Amino acid sequence: MDNYISTLIVKFASPCNLNCTYCYEYNTGDDSWKRKPKFFTSENAKYLNERIQEYLNIAPISKVNLIGHGGEPLLLGAEKLDIVLSTIKEGIEEKINFGMQTNAVLVNTDIIEVLKKHNVKCGVSIDGNSNHNKSRVFHNLPTMILSMDIKNFMRMI
Ligand code: SF4
Repeated sequence: MDNYISTLIVKFASPCNLNCTYCYEYNTGDDSWKRKPKFFTSENAKYLNERIQEYLNIAPISKVNLIGHGGEPLLLGAEKLDIVLSTIKEGIEEKINFGMQTNAVLVNTDIIEVLKKHNVKCGVSIDGNSNHNKSRVFHNLPTMILSMDIKNFMRMI
């Protein structure tokens, strides 16, 4: 059987709210992210919706998985995230599964509502115990954020 793409990874935001010292994207010398669009837009979402529909018409698969990625995808904010997800799945609600990879720092009640509305399955990046998370810091605060991650992670379950 031919190979067909079943999972798309889509960069919803190229910046990140964190500045992990080990981050391959931001802290290993490659600054090409600075020249990329900062955020995925509703226009991008409409275009993607059309392309997915075209693809599902020719590929021998009934569903695609779409993983929102970054940077940090929740930098879009609840309102824009809702618009983007609604637009991507318009007319193909039964044919698309949403996922998201997030550091969970920006999770709040509005975000949780949007994630639930679109049945988004989230992967949360936590490095390990508080010692392992020492390199996982904000841009201007040398602060460990593990407890915040855990708290937000528990709110998402
Ligand atoms: S949370 Fe991820 S993308 Fe953001 S700085 Fe850390 S490793 Fe990089």
